[in-house]
Amino acid sequence: MSKQRLEGKVAIVTGGASGIGAETVKTFVENGAFVVIADINDELGHQVATSIGLDKVSYHHCDVSDEKQVEETVAFALEKYGTLDIMFSNAGIGGATAMSITTTIKHAARVMVERKIRGSIICTASVAGFVAGCAGHDYTTSKHGLIGLVRSTCSELGAYGIRVNSISPSGVATPLLCRALNKDVSEVEAIGNDSANLKGITLKAGHIAEAAMFLASDESAYISGQNLVVDGGFTVVNRWLK
Ligand code: NAD
Repeated sequence: MSKQRLEGKVAIVTGGASGIGAETVKTFVENGAFVVIADINDELGHQVATSIGLDKVSYHHCDVSDEKQVEETVAFALEKYGTLDIMFSNAGIGGATAMSITTTIKHAARVMVERKIRGSIICTASVAGFVAGCAGHDYTTSKHGLIGLVRSTCSELGAYGIRVNSISPSGVATPLLCRALNKDVSEVEAIGNDSANLKGITLKAGHIAEAAMFLASDESAYISGQNLVVDGGFTVVNRWLK
C-alpha cells in the first residue's frame, strides 16, 4: 500500500463536529492522521468521532472563544498523541469566535516552535474575506482580518518552518449556511448552482476538506501566507456581459 499523505500526523480540527470541519476530520483520517475534534457541540462531536473510529479520532470540548480551553485542547492532543503537526482553525464566524483564531494559531505555534515541528496551520476564511456584499459587516470584517492575520503570522512563523494558510470557500450548504438563509440543503445548493461560474458541480464540504488536505500535506511544502479560494471561479468572473 502506498504511503498515505498524512501518515502518523496529528491534527486538531476546530468546529470538527459539523459541516466543513467534520468532512475534513474524515479526510485527514482517511489519509493516515490522528485527529482531535475541538467543538462545543459535545453530542455531535462524540457522534462524529465514534462514527469515524475512536482509534484515530478523539473529541475534546473546546469553545474557541475561550483561550484557556484552546490551550487545554492543545495540551490534550499532546498528551493523547504525543505531538501536533496540523491545526485546522475552522470554527468561528464573527466577533469573538472569529478572532479566537488568533489564540488557536498562537497555541499551536507555541508547541510547534518549542518542539521544532515544521507544522501546518490552516484557517477557514471565506470569499467574504476579500470581496464585499456577500455577508454582513461583522462576518466580512472578521474574515478580511483573518486573511491579514494569516499573512502576518506566516511572516513570523516562517523562521521556524511553520506554514500558515487560509481557505476561502464560497457557499457550502452546511447547517451554518442553511440556518443563516433559513433554507434547507437542496434550496441552498440550488441558489449556489444558479449563481455558480463553474456549472455542473455542486460545492460540497468535501471540496473544502480536499483543499485543507492539500495545505496540511507535504504536497504544499513551500506554500505559506496564501489564501486558497475554492469558489469555482465565482469571485473572478464578471457576469455583466453574459
Ligand atoms: P457548521 O455550522 O456546519 O459547523 C461549525 C462547527 O463549529 C459546529 O460544529 C459548531 O458547533 C462549531 N462551533 C461553533 N462555535 C464554536 C466555538 N465557539 N468553539 C468551537 N466550535 C464552535 O458550519 P461550516 O459551514 O462548516 O463552517 C465552518 C467554517 O467555514 C466557518 O469558519 C465559516 O465561517 C466558514 N465558511 C463557511 C461557508 C459556508 O458557506 N458554509 C463559506 C465560507 C466560509
